Amino acid sequence: MDMADSRTTSQEASTAGEDKLVALRATLAQAGKSALYADSFRNLRLDSLEDFRKIPLTTRAELQSAGIDGTRAAPIEEICHYGVSSGTTGAANSTWLTAEDLEKNARAMRERHPEIFSPGKIILNRFPFMAAPAHLIQLVAQQGGGVSIPAGNINWDVPFPKALDLAIATGASVFAGLPLEPLVLAQIARSRGLDPVADVKLDTFFLGGAPLPPVLQRRIERDWGARVIELYGSTETMLLGTACSERSLHIETDLVFCEILGVDSDEPVDIGEEGRFIVTTLGLQGSPLVRLDTGDLVRRLAPCACGDPRQTIIVLGRGVDVCEIEGKRLHSYELIEAAASAADVVDSSVFFTVILPDRLIVRIETDRPGRSGQDSSDALRAQLGDIRVEIELVPVNSILDVEHLSRSPTVYKPVMISDWRRPGRHLISISQSMMEWPSLSGREALRWALRSLRSSLRSRKLARELRRSTR
Ligand SMILES: [Zn+2]
Repeated sequence: MDMADSRTTSQEASTAGEDKLVALRATLAQAGKSALYADSFRNLRLDSLEDFRKIPLTTRAELQSAGIDGTRAAPIEEICHYGVSSGTTGAANSTWLTAEDLEKNARAMRERHPEIFSPGKIILNRFPFMAAPAHLIQLVAQQGGGVSIPAGNINWDVPFPKALDLAIATGASVFAGLPLEPLVLAQIARSRGLDPVADVKLDTFFLGGAPLPPVLQRRIERDWGARVIELYGSTETMLLGTACSERSLHIETDLVFCEILGVDSDEPVDIGEEGRFIVTTLGLQGSPLVRLDTGDLVRRLAPCACGDPRQTIIVLGRGVDVCEIEGKRLHSYELIEAAASAADVVDSSVFFTVILPDRLIVRIETDRPGRSGQDSSDALRAQLGDIRVEIELVPVNSILDVEHLSRSPTVYKPVMISDWRRPGRHLISISQSMMEWPSLSGREALRWALRSLRSSLRSRKLARELRRSTR
């Protein structure tokens, strides 16, 4: 690099730094209007990023104790959306958003992925209605990014089988939702004798809300003949990032300023290291947040090969979910990665992990239950090292009972009048009008009873073991 080049580069860097400072000052000014930050930012001067890094972190506990209105920095008349996330402790964090806040996030999502969000593309929007991405996907469609089917997966009126019906009937090509769902829908499709690759048009899965290691992404891609794109965000911070063609999760640096600080220190971590993910929102008017400790642990990655210079990370899971097994710290990401690899070698994508004091049990559904599970054991150890593991290969429908899912109740609009003179359902109560449970044949009832008996015997046996070992 010659002198002129290096001058330009440092000039660019300082301009970028100056832009960041301007954006951060705007966030501080807006955040100062909320009850949560009013006192802390009254006399704050921000001359450099070093000044910014001296501002104390905001914890989730502080968000919760700030109360329902604590983070709101805009007058209620300018707010159009209230979001709430319940933490693992059951306490809730409140977020207030303006129409512009939502639109900005949706625009960022659409502009980042023009090939999947474009006019005419049909998107099966399975994100739960309470979760922010559900609303961003709706907005993406309204901004010209396709046609959204609001089929949130926690609505009783769209159980899994109906979601598959909708995808097939509409010819949807994009699926947006939680990572587990494509695995469930693939099982349902197969149980109906359908081939998810040939018989269902879905070709892109836009997934977020749980760890999504590459082995699981590849599995979903093979199951569906589709591409997986990871999405990362939270109710409090909104969109944090999406993955590129190299499967790297890039931070949306126009929407947030992120820091990755040591697990036990307040120093930024190096490339390859794990740290706490600290987020400051940029341009959010409703509930701006300054140096929020998200509670997530991430690994900082080297610049991505795709050429996009924005920071890339691996989301390892929540700090509170880290578990220690035989002196080894394991994140949710690593446990799911290992279990998915173990399942993959026996050509399965349905698995469940049980952590016991003396070992890890990974239960895997397989249609060839006669196998030993040695290959799965080896795959698990290759990921987790030499810890005690037990692989349990179980018959199909033992972990994910597709038949049960397909027989979920039929849900109706509640009614208050039922005319028994007319054909159709003869009701005597509102609750009866809302739901109708399937009636089972004797054989179905027996099969389900046996399956649930097997599960409960297995879990009782493990519970007895647990009592003995902790005595
Ligand atoms: Zn990339």
